[in-house]
Amino acid sequence: MPHHTPLIATIVVGLGLAFVLGVLAHRLRIPPLVGYLLAGILVGPFTPGFVADQGLAVELAEIGVILLMFGVGLHFSLADLLSVKAIAIPGAVVQIAVATAFGVGLAWLMGWSAGAGIVFGLALSVASTVVLLRALQERRILETRRGRIAVGWLIVEDLAMVLTLVLLPALAGLLKGEAGVLAWDDLARTVGLTLLKVAAFVALMLVVGRRVIPWVLHYVAHSGSRELFRLAVLAVALGVAFGAAMLFDVSFALGAFFAGMILSESPLSQRAAEESLPLRDAFAVLFFVSVGMLLDPAVLLRQALPVLATFLIIVLAKSAAAYLIVRAFGHPRITALTISASLAQIGEFSFILAGLGVGLGIMPAEARDLVLAGAILSILANPLFFALLDRIKARMDRGAEAALAATAGEEDAVLKPTSLSGHDVVVGYGRVGSAIGEGLLRTGRPFLVIEERRAAIDALRAQGIEAIAGNGADPRIVRAAGLPVARTLYVAIPEAFEAGQIVAQARALGPELEIIARAHFDAEVEHLERVGADIIVMGEREIARAMLEHAAAKAPPSRPEGDGAPAAA
Ligand code: AMP
Repeated sequence: MPHHTPLIATIVVGLGLAFVLGVLAHRLRIPPLVGYLLAGILVGPFTPGFVADQGLAVELAEIGVILLMFGVGLHFSLADLLSVKAIAIPGAVVQIAVATAFGVGLAWLMGWSAGAGIVFGLALSVASTVVLLRALQERRILETRRGRIAVGWLIVEDLAMVLTLVLLPALAGLLKGEAGVLAWDDLARTVGLTLLKVAAFVALMLVVGRRVIPWVLHYVAHSGSRELFRLAVLAVALGVAFGAAMLFDVSFALGAFFAGMILSESPLSQRAAEESLPLRDAFAVLFFVSVGMLLDPAVLLRQALPVLATFLIIVLAKSAAAYLIVRAFGHPRITALTISASLAQIGEFSFILAGLGVGLGIMPAEARDLVLAGAILSILANPLFFALLDRIKARMDRGAEAALAATAGEEDAVLKPTSLSGHDVVVGYGRVGSAIGEGLLRTGRPFLVIEERRAAIDALRAQGIEAIAGNGADPRIVRAAGLPVARTLYVAIPEAFEAGQIVAQARALGPELEIIARAHFDAEVEHLERVGADIIVMGEREIARAMLEHAAAKAPPSRPEGDGAPAAA
């Protein structure tokens, strides 16, 4: 097919086929990303039929990475990042060392050089941002302590890979076994320069970006144009990521993460996250398609045993190392298991590194095939590990229930059941919840808050208000709120599906409890009523009522001469 519009063709066929196969996968009760990968294999160069433009697909996928990391940054403060450094830095370093050692071992068995083994092992050591973030987001654990450790760990890996990519060309001679080619002062200069650039970028973002970026968004928000606000969010996310890569040689992902992070302190961060969501999801799908395109399915048969060994290094050796390190640092078992599952896969950085290794002549091309096959298999297997994790967690929760208050784990310690009684409970402390809180404070009624946003939790606790961090629909959290002895429950979150889950559980726990819920559509009102809410306040109706009241209070209804219109009631 003569296609003169390769970009359009790649987007259309990539998204279209991913959609069809994603729906099919969903019907078959397998994760949709399996469908996306398959779509990639079908439009890739190794299968007959239409072949999408590989270079373009990879670039489009990169936009997905940028938007994802920007979104993560929006929920992450510098304090969060620093709070996990004690585990994330040694964890990532040891894990990279273990993966590299196993890589060298496999290289030795395959008869490659030690240098090839090192690059191969490094390629197996770094997890994919997209796969990790999607898994954590789907399960809503991104904002928990273990989610933060996983992201911090990922960022350390990312930094290590930035360094590896710039060092590799300088070290190529040594890794190829050509003695005497290495100039130590050259190497030291390259390392120093890279670290200097990363530091300069971070400093620039923290000093200048921190002031300029929130200012720009506030300015645009006040212009009242939604379109311009959306544009501003995209321009900041993509612009900073691209600028970071061009000017400072930092990865796109890292640049986007910092852009998001400096916005996280701004009250506009939530809106910025919402605005970038739809594009982010579309481009993340293209990421999986582009990965699928790289795979030559024949490799799986031709190199079955080495592929299996590569797969096992990624999912077993790396995970075991991560588990042991996290446990050694005294974190709970569930944290260790979550980190292991999150990192038991490889992706974009591995492809880049493997490509560079082959390009520089350090690594044979078959090693790159193994990296690709290992990546696809580990990405396919990843949802299975998370399903297993969910099951283990459910079992642990059941076992831990009786001793909930006594458990030592950080996350469980937060779930100590409240000692309040006759109190009120507010779920969601955003615009609506915080206004309720102010009212309750004025009347002096005791209350506690359930909220997902870390910043809100910290602010509440600083004020001495009891706050439970986490998703209000989580049964353990609902139980910790003392609902059977509470007076009123305010469900002040905007999402009616989740609100329904909370109301249903609360009703089961407290038949006498007064439940007041928030809705935005008539269908939501009906749904919330059905699951047991006593009073449902529909935001839009209340706004309309208040507007009419204001108008009525100002000017008594008057009827112009000859106008037959009825007066306002
Ligand atoms: P707003 O729409 O401004 O009233 O904000 C809603 C608030 O509810 C935000 O602060 C969210 O973080 C919070 N929220 C949304 N869903 C949940 C949930 N399932 N559990 C706890 N908090 C939530």
